[in-house]
Amino acid sequence: ALPGVPKLRLHNPVFAGENGDEFMPRYEDAAAGRLDPFVLVIEGSIPHETNKSDGYWAGFGIDRNTGQPLTTCSWIDRLAPRAWAVGAAGTCATHGGIHAMGRNPTDCMGLPDYLGWSWRSTGDIPIVCVPGCPVQPDNMTQTLLYLLRQASGTAPMIPLDDALRPTFLFGPTVHEGCDRGGFYEQADFAAAHGSTKCIVKLGCWGPVVICNVPKRGWMNGIGGCPNVGGLCIGCTMPGFPDKFMCFMDEPPGARMSTSAVLMYGRTVRALRAFTKASLEKEPPWRNPAGAMSAESPAATQSDVKPDTTV
Ligand code: SF4
Ligand code: SF4
Repeated sequence: ALPGVPKLRLHNPVFAGENGDEFMPRYEDAAAGRLDPFVLVIEGSIPHETNKSDGYWAGFGIDRNTGQPLTTCSWIDRLAPRAWAVGAAGTCATHGGIHAMGRNPTDCMGLPDYLGWSWRSTGDIPIVCVPGCPVQPDNMTQTLLYLLRQASGTAPMIPLDDALRPTFLFGPTVHEGCDRGGFYEQADFAAAHGSTKCIVKLGCWGPVVICNVPKRGWMNGIGGCPNVGGLCIGCTMPGFPDKFMCFMDEPPGARMSTSAVLMYGRTVRALRAFTKASLEKEPPWRNPAGAMSAESPAATQSDVKPDTTV
């Protein structure tokens, strides 16, 4: 229905009406080259299937010949080389996510680590990564829409950064888009949850995390982790979660940076309190006849006569 965007069929195990054997033919067609072109979107981390002697970590469908589960990795091996573009949805698919934490027996990884960071699709496009735990829905939709426009020749090559993230989504930090930035600048830090002040002392990693969620919100522009009191735990970052542990502690760097802004912040906060108190009062020349005296503090603009001399 969108002008300039090619007709699209979405095959997704969650949204599909079919299930079991009825659901699989689309994937078998794609793997056999009977479905062209298609965009492959992977969600979830990629396990290391060869790090054990038997069994499997993740499967998708059944091999009709053997009756055995088909591993997710075998599907990626067959589908990715035929895909016009390949996307990774969410931090698990992009960087491995929680399942790739140290000492996880699956040895999970993200799609670029599995296929290779310099891998390119049949459309000559690198893997397109949209991290987030979960991925912000509008970010994913916007990325897919961009790819469809590129497929139809109405958009140039999708711009990606070194981590293969769309640059139109990933650039500024959480802190740079946070509603609570003014409190940080004035060194006004929350001591407990439930406060509307900056929550860096409670464990917010926003100053060093690349994510547009505070600007974009979660649904219909509403929400966005620290905007509504949720600590930023760096869920979009390649180092997540290991490098952000423990989530509920003040980040080590925050102790130094908040100390650095403390003197400046407290000073400007005090000075602004004076200025604000002054600005809260109308200028004296608007009250020549004593209409705003202590006896009549509630005078309104309608009380001011048009011929009042200033
Ligand atoms: Fe920055 Fe977090 Fe404070 Fe927001 S709550 S201003 S992101 S440190
Ligand atoms: Fe994840 Fe932080 Fe972005 Fe929230 S603000 S989505 S925790 S990176």
